[in-house]
Amino acid sequence: MTDVVAKTVSLNQLAYDCPQCGVEHRHGSRSLRDRVESRGSHCSNDSHDVEIHVDASTVRVGADGKPLVKWP
Ligand SMILES: [Zn+2]
Repeated sequence: MTDVVAKTVSLNQLAYDCPQCGVEHRHGSRSLRDRVESRGSHCSNDSHDVEIHVDASTVRVGADGKPLVKWP
């Protein structure tokens, strides 16, 4: 299990920079709230699960990928 912090989150997708391969991986998202999501890694280097942390440092973005000024 590897802990990562999401770089961006939207109502469709969250993204993080992978510590294993350095590539950005994306997973589905349905919420903008702070939380931790356990997912199977998409990484080709390693097949371990990841704990994706959505926290205060995660940028909330809209469907256009631009940061939201405010979010509920
Ligand atoms: Zn990776």
